[in-house]
Amino acid sequence: MTAPKRNLIGLDLNALTEELTALGLEKFRAKQIWSWVYCYGARDFSAMSSLAKPVRETLAAHFSLDRPQVSLHQRSTDGTQKWLLKMADGHEVESVHIPEEDRGALCVSSQVGCLMTCRFCHTGTQRLVRNLDASEIVAQVMLARDALKDWPKPGQDKPAGRPCRKEESAPVRALTNIVMMGMGEPLYNYENVARALRIVMNGDGLAIGKRRITLSTCGVAPMIRRCGEELGVNLAISLHAVTDELRDQIVPLNRKYPIKELLQACRDYPGVSNARRITFEYVMLKGINDSMADAKQLVRLLRGIPAKINLIPFNPWPGAPFDCSDGAVIEKFGDFLNDAGYASPIRTPRGRDIMAACGQLKSASLKLSVAERAQVERLLAEKEAAQGLGA
Ligand code: SAH
Repeated sequence: MTAPKRNLIGLDLNALTEELTALGLEKFRAKQIWSWVYCYGARDFSAMSSLAKPVRETLAAHFSLDRPQVSLHQRSTDGTQKWLLKMADGHEVESVHIPEEDRGALCVSSQVGCLMTCRFCHTGTQRLVRNLDASEIVAQVMLARDALKDWPKPGQDKPAGRPCRKEESAPVRALTNIVMMGMGEPLYNYENVARALRIVMNGDGLAIGKRRITLSTCGVAPMIRRCGEELGVNLAISLHAVTDELRDQIVPLNRKYPIKELLQACRDYPGVSNARRITFEYVMLKGINDSMADAKQLVRLLRGIPAKINLIPFNPWPGAPFDCSDGAVIEKFGDFLNDAGYASPIRTPRGRDIMAACGQLKSASLKLSVAERAQVERLLAEKEAAQGLGA
């Protein structure tokens, strides 16, 4: 039996160099291959025309450039696309592409399922099955760029992630931004997310810079500083409630890291300034968190933090125990925040018709035995202890 080929996607430049030298290939090849893989999206070693044929053959004999399999692809009437992706072990996650006129964001998943159980979130009704590894996170970006036919052509286009303003006469890329807002809690899978984002940010490859990446967390306070120091990406906080009493109920992680601790971590977020504000996400739940008293308390809480507020109309899913606030209520809430000096756009739901909007993602690969579940929780506890996250 031949050994399975190692997938190159997800290796950083050091690891790639090591793999190549182990095969007797020269070190400098790593940069060439890197550029073929991440800048131009080559899927086949035979297309790497700057490499001699024997080198290409050696590579093909040992490595693959496999993408996840697409189990289902859907396109919304508003142009949003969703891919249900099957990983090598059969587990599935979703990624969503949200096009806008001069840019496009890919909403990337970090875990199969989620441990967080936020009450209004469809993914939260799904169990955590496992973390995605760096390769599976990067592969979501690769696959989207394949599907969108968004790879630059060697020698013709500007590198992939460069600013895409039309006046620069550069091609407008379909995928310019990344939001870590898919399935899972990225700060509970920090190592893999960080490894993946470093690859995505590398200027010689996918080149999607840190200012074009937003990581959203429901509030893993002790990991927030590290994320800022090491990655420097934009931060979004799923706040959703202004009292611990309510937040304990709808975002249960609040019992571990209450609002005060979370907001202190935001105040301390490296690089935060009026030019680089933290986004606070606030899902509008009818009769639950949408009163004017809530709006006032929100302004009080955020005082002193360079912030903008994203009001998200609740996106329904089958059996959800909430309704979306009325449009007029959301407007009034937003006006109050605006008057208090906060940019507070109301997020237009995208891809609702294909269940691709915020909080609607849920894959079918949910079956987890009690023993597996216990194992996952043990692993997470060990990880937390190792990262000093103990309660
Ligand atoms: N675990 C991370 C990443 C998920 S991001 C986090 O919690 O931030 C997805 C965003 O959509 C979060 O702000 C989440 O709270 C919000 N969301 C979840 N379910 C929703 C729903 N049904 N309607 C609107 N927004 C929802």
